[in-house]
Amino acid sequence: MPNSDSVILDQHHALRVTPALAAELKSTGRFAGSRWAPSPNFGPRPDTAKISLLVVHNISLPPGQFGGPEIEQFFCNQLDPSAHPYFESIASLQVSAHALVRRDGSVVQFVSCLDRAWHAGRSCFDGEEECNDFSIGIEMEGTDHTPYTPEQYQSLAMLARLSMMAWPEIRTGRVTGHCDIAPGRKTDPGPAFDWPRFTALLADEEIV
Ligand SMILES: [Zn+2]
Repeated sequence: MPNSDSVILDQHHALRVTPALAAELKSTGRFAGSRWAPSPNFGPRPDTAKISLLVVHNISLPPGQFGGPEIEQFFCNQLDPSAHPYFESIASLQVSAHALVRRDGSVVQFVSCLDRAWHAGRSCFDGEEECNDFSIGIEMEGTDHTPYTPEQYQSLAMLARLSMMAWPEIRTGRVTGHCDIAPGRKTDPGPAFDWPRFTALLADEEIV
């Protein structure tokens, strides 16, 4: 069984999701193998026992550019508004997500899953509003129209499987896109996100 320092992907990108890692996630709120970059943008959940939804997003900063430090700066309220024309309009927003999957598949975590990250905004899933209360929000570094990388799908599937093991109320039908819980307001993760591919990965994933 791998220890928590050696998870996520081996050299063949095999997924290693174990009950021990899921138990660790449930008790600590932290995704094993992720880099911790704490955001101040979170609050308590009304009821930690009710975690029951996973929301997939995308983000890129500056828009359409990948690999820079700006997403982390943004979620940590450290974005320089003068660094890019677009940043002026967003730098004062206080938002976050639980985790970000970068283009190479590496994962950065900003908020404990036990806490309420500020990722969904006004939202509704299956008649329930305020999805931030009961969801885990994961950002894919990307845009609505840029294909996501295989490494990103692998890592997202691992994060989703771990979450589903930790909180079984997150069932397959309760993994959704931001566009689906905030229609007309949000479009991410966009048409580029291959739901059948992701769903197949979730189902096939080896649990060691
Ligand atoms: Zn979003």
